[in-house]
Amino acid sequence: MMSAIRKFKPFQVLFFLTILFIFITSPAPASALTESEVNPVNTPEGVVVLIVDGLSAPFIYPELTPHALDGTPLEKASLENIPKINEDSARILEFRAPQTFTEGGHSVLVTGNPGADSELVSFKDATVFDVLHRQGYLCIGVMEKGDSWSIRAEQDVILRDENNSINNMKIALEQQEQSPDTPEIPGGLLQVLEEAADKAPGYITSKETREKYSGYDRWGIDTACAVVEYMARNMPGKKYMLTVNVGAIDSSGHHRDNYGYVDCIECLDADISPLYELCKKNNLAFVLTADHGMGFSKDDSKGGHQSEKFSSTEETQLVPLIVYAQDIESGVVSGKHGQEDFTPTLLGVLDIPDRPRFVEGKQILLTGHVNLKIKLPEKGYAELRKDGNLITSLKNDDQFVFLGLEPGSTYIVRAALDSGKSLEEQEKEVLLETDSVIEFMEKGHKNTENVKSDLGSEENTTSMAGFLKGNSEASNSNSKHLIGYFVIGLVNLAGVAAIAKILKKN
Ligand SMILES: [Zn+2]
Repeated sequence: MMSAIRKFKPFQVLFFLTILFIFITSPAPASALTESEVNPVNTPEGVVVLIVDGLSAPFIYPELTPHALDGTPLEKASLENIPKINEDSARILEFRAPQTFTEGGHSVLVTGNPGADSELVSFKDATVFDVLHRQGYLCIGVMEKGDSWSIRAEQDVILRDENNSINNMKIALEQQEQSPDTPEIPGGLLQVLEEAADKAPGYITSKETREKYSGYDRWGIDTACAVVEYMARNMPGKKYMLTVNVGAIDSSGHHRDNYGYVDCIECLDADISPLYELCKKNNLAFVLTADHGMGFSKDDSKGGHQSEKFSSTEETQLVPLIVYAQDIESGVVSGKHGQEDFTPTLLGVLDIPDRPRFVEGKQILLTGHVNLKIKLPEKGYAELRKDGNLITSLKNDDQFVFLGLEPGSTYIVRAALDSGKSLEEQEKEVLLETDSVIEFMEKGHKNTENVKSDLGSEENTTSMAGFLKGNSEASNSNSKHLIGYFVIGLVNLAGVAAIAKILKKN
């Protein structure tokens, strides 16, 4: 073999290296996007989503009172830090879980679909993670519970408790297999996560129940802080979503009584500030929510949330949603909202108008501005008008985003293609209640759905239309990928043929 290599002629080696270079550097085909800030927006650098497993809103919201199934009012958590976070945040008063168990709750949160399960989560373009990945986000998980196979598969890297157990914590580090489509995980971040995994058993050594349970959650908070600190120091400007699930409050509900449950909430409250402060300091959005709540039969009894007797109660269905970001208008948000609104609301806070495929939830507008995305079939021009005046125009691209628009206003969008081909419509009028996506079609390509908005405008879409649209979008990007793979395949074949030829000569 060595002699064979020595007999390579220089031009053959050069040819082989060129092929290798092309193979390595070929970028995946992607369509471009041009953004314009119509009014200034402070888009967060990323987001930390803290999912407090089993945290019921009536136990922590000042407006609500928790009751046992027998009607007895129950003790509430006495909090110091969460109320301080609330002062700068939007707090959604009625935020209801349609499925009151861990897998269901997590699946609804990340898909925006109230009937979601783990399988739906696994579908292409079905989750907030899929939307964020397309925007260049890194998705990092630190999960004690809720780490179903499909949620894990959405993370670029995740630390998880394989045993989901406070008594037998077993933290594992899992990483997506590296491919041209997956982002590279920096070695330093892996080191931070490995160190956190090593430290985990030290958090639950106490013989005292209170300390052991609170230690379990503290590990999740401390690890999240270490990740945020690492990212701020070493990857400034890299957008990311860190999903944290802390599991001890749910376990306290199941294994301790309602007093143990409340005690564990108070311990989390005592530990939570550093993570919130780090988010604030680093221009990250911070979101606190839960997968489901917790119910109790009577005072001094153990709790539950999934069984029939509990699943229909306010205590199991009402979960907190507290959202902090620079642009958030703080205060209590009234109205009926559901966990399926989480993903569209979060994407709104991150100034991303795209939504996952199966979304049925609506964006809760928390920032005081809306964003509009325009999609053209090919490169062209788009201009935005309001009250007859030109606001801004963008050109030389096939996707545009106008940021910082006035909610409740009517805008007119005009578009044209560089190639001179005609569009089905040159102009569209849109009433912007929430973030929206408008798609212009080439003349002759009939499209039944061209405005996608969360709120009920006339042009709003049914969920089926959303499904179909998602499909066409997915197959579009699929075909682009296929072309990419085909080219890579051809280059590889050429390389193999060249090598075979060289070896044959020898
Ligand atoms: Zn749970």
